Amino acid sequence: MVQVKKKRSYILGELTWPEAEARFKQIDIALLPVGSTEQHGPHLPLDTDAFDANYLAWEVANMFPDPKPLVLPLIPYGVSYHHMDFSGTISISNETLTKLVYEIGMSAAHHGIKKLIIINGHGGNTPSLKNAAQMINRDAHIFTCVDTGETSDVDMGKIIETPNDAHAGEMETSTTLALRPHLVYMDKAQKFIPDFSSRYLNFSSSRSVEWYTRTEMISQNGVLGDPTKASKEKGKLIWKRMVKNLVSFVTELKDMTLDEIYEKRY
Ligand SMILES: [Zn+2]
Repeated sequence: MVQVKKKRSYILGELTWPEAEARFKQIDIALLPVGSTEQHGPHLPLDTDAFDANYLAWEVANMFPDPKPLVLPLIPYGVSYHHMDFSGTISISNETLTKLVYEIGMSAAHHGIKKLIIINGHGGNTPSLKNAAQMINRDAHIFTCVDTGETSDVDMGKIIETPNDAHAGEMETSTTLALRPHLVYMDKAQKFIPDFSSRYLNFSSSRSVEWYTRTEMISQNGVLGDPTKASKEKGKLIWKRMVKNLVSFVTELKDMTLDEIYEKRY
């Protein structure tokens, strides 16, 4: 089959520099997808977080009429030291990720980006990304935020049945089944939900604190959740909801000036 390939105006990496220059005059909002390369149990690929963050950013940008928001190239590595006991995991330090994102954000601001949304596919990246976002705001005076699924979290409970479905479980297996079923070994998907020694340590509890551990200490196969409950249908619903919520957020931000963002009250 002959595929018609077309340059996508919202993907920065596909543009020439004169095209980019013209684009930055039309649009001042950008999405930066950040993922990880880390174990996702015996049944999902190592690039799950990276692929998903990039897919989400591309889908969201493509939903807009021209000029669409710009999507910066994906960062495929993240802070994954806690998965290093499982082969294939490639981890970078908090300092490296913070610095990388900071310098990308400063470059984007230099070319005219005034609103930067970091689309984060991996919870372990969150502290570094928030740190970078603060410093970009401090030094470039642009709007910067991090979305690690917060725009959709409240909706996920209606689709996902498993409590503590934190890693390679029902949710991530469903989203991968929806997009790349050929990379999922459902016959190797095993449920693993840890028992927590305190409700303050239980991820799902509203009173839980942030705490850190190597995954191997709490899960033998690297799974935290129940991938056996995953389905393509759930994955499609999750994607639909996440894209819709982010499109709504970006729509609100897109045409606002920085003054309006900071001064408008809802
Ligand atoms: Zn993941």
